[in-house]
Amino acid sequence: MPFELPKLPYAYDALEPYIDARTMEIHHTKHHQAYVDKANIAVKDTAFDGRSVEEVIQNIDKLPQDRHSMARNNAGGHANHSLFWKLMKKGGGGAPTGDLVKAIDQHLGGFEKFKEEFSQAAINRFGSGWAWLVVNHQGGLTVTSTANQDNPLMGTTATTSPGTPILGLDVWEHAYYLKYQNKRPDYVAAFWNLVNWDQVAENYRNARK
Ligand code: MN
Repeated sequence: MPFELPKLPYAYDALEPYIDARTMEIHHTKHHQAYVDKANIAVKDTAFDGRSVEEVIQNIDKLPQDRHSMARNNAGGHANHSLFWKLMKKGGGGAPTGDLVKAIDQHLGGFEKFKEEFSQAAINRFGSGWAWLVVNHQGGLTVTSTANQDNPLMGTTATTSPGTPILGLDVWEHAYYLKYQNKRPDYVAAFWNLVNWDQVAENYRNARK
């Protein structure tokens, strides 16, 4: 099966007023769709045709060399956005509970300190990229950021803290410019009102299996 654009789990206006409906619609139907289309071209007639997008981004160097950058950018973009949409919901926000908050306390010095570290990673990522909360290879939690459509699953080529991302924030201008213009810190602050912590907790459990 080729890669397909996933349906959003909510309406385009569900994340108002924090993320506006027009941004969500363009982001999903134009930007994400373009990553899907080009990711399909990147894996076509290779050993990774029909494999999961996670398998592709963990094995970029096993694709034919002339597909590397196309796969990295577009399979990366497809993986990142597919994760991202599910990390937000109407009426989200608040704080995590259970094993996840215990791990945040243990590895990141508590929820408030984590929020500050993640926000700074998002604000300080120069140019286009993503901020991440990652289950690292030791099973702990790390905050990091990546450039472009890189993903922590890509390994040390993408970040000094590779692993499985369980929370991510898109800080490309296409994610916020219509509403926030150059004020990325305001968009980052608004994101905390949308986070679907139940989904992050599920991602955390799956990453530790
Ligand atoms: Mn994006």
